[in-house]
Amino acid sequence: MTEIKCLTIDELKTVLVEMGEKPFRAGQIFKWLHQGVESFEEMSDLSKALRARLAERFALTVPRIVRKQVSRVDGTVKYLWQLRDGACVESVLMHYAHGVSVCVSTQVGCRMGCRFCASGLNGLERHLSAGEILDEVLFMQKDSGQPVSNIVLMGTGEPLDNYDNVLRFLQLVSCPGGIQIGQRHISLSTSGLADKIEQLADEHLQITLSVSLHAPDDETRAAIMPVDTAYPIDRLLRACRYYFDTTGRRISYEYMMARDTTDRPWQAERLARLLRGRPAHVNLIPLNEVAESPLRPSRPETVRRFQQALEKHGVTATVRRRLGPDIDAACGQLRRRAMQQGTAG
Ligand code: SAH
Ligand code: SF4
Repeated sequence: MTEIKCLTIDELKTVLVEMGEKPFRAGQIFKWLHQGVESFEEMSDLSKALRARLAERFALTVPRIVRKQVSRVDGTVKYLWQLRDGACVESVLMHYAHGVSVCVSTQVGCRMGCRFCASGLNGLERHLSAGEILDEVLFMQKDSGQPVSNIVLMGTGEPLDNYDNVLRFLQLVSCPGGIQIGQRHISLSTSGLADKIEQLADEHLQITLSVSLHAPDDETRAAIMPVDTAYPIDRLLRACRYYFDTTGRRISYEYMMARDTTDRPWQAERLARLLRGRPAHVNLIPLNEVAESPLRPSRPETVRRFQQALEKHGVTATVRRRLGPDIDAACGQLRRRAMQQGTAG
């Protein structure tokens, strides 16, 4: 059965006309769906007969909250959802001065195998549909009672490995009549699938691209990110240049600070040389320790020195604030713990 939340408003119109209904019903239905209704019954401005026909024809996905953790430090909320086939994914809601920002997963697991990441430890289970990614946003908004103003695709999964569904999701969230979040309020983070970055550039979207660089040399990067073997740094940066030239959007580079691995002084120099003259911003991320990985976080003074070295060469860099430090708000960690305890798929 088609998941109704995967359809754009225009596709809904076409289906309704095929069903012998008036096309304007599509707007009503789309609005209900984006409010997070849990059954067609709730669509009170539609006839009972139409509600019944929709229920026969379409699946209406409703993720169930398996676990919810609220940080006592900063109010960050971490959700673990169970989907209709039993698979579990997580999302995080964060409060910023400019509004509520949500971080969503795009796959159940991940096949990229980065050594430091809890999400990829068991490989890829399946892709999320566009509607399931949208559900994370809709149901966090509903549960929190606060309007979401920003979305980051930085939860579990490699968004560009689930390209078509992610693109459809971007179309759905920015479409008038629904939750309607502008593309400039959306960031997509990728481990660096260069050919997909170029394909994304050609879509001419206004979203922000974040690239998980994490090391300035292929030897280090390939050792922690297998994707580097397929797309080495010079290939990746060529794709990033193309992305900027095509969309005019400055790229944000994520750089994880791992002790004695990515944080050595020569690596700051090398990184500055790679990015100098590019419209770029570097986000230094303190590594979150994962039990299965030998990597350890850098010392705070090393992070500061690294940042200063970049700035000295004219590369702007900020140190990412750690949100929800008491609730493990890092990629994949809630799902992983639940899996170990046998409560998640
Ligand atoms: N797959 C995409 C997006 C999801 S991961 C990507 O890799 O970019 C989101 C971010 O969290 C990435 O920058 C990733 O490298 C980072 N990350 C994963 N595990 C981490 C850890 N243990 N500590 C710090 N950052 C981590
Ligand atoms: Fe996948 Fe991103 Fe984790 Fe790498 S860091 S395994 S790409 S989710």
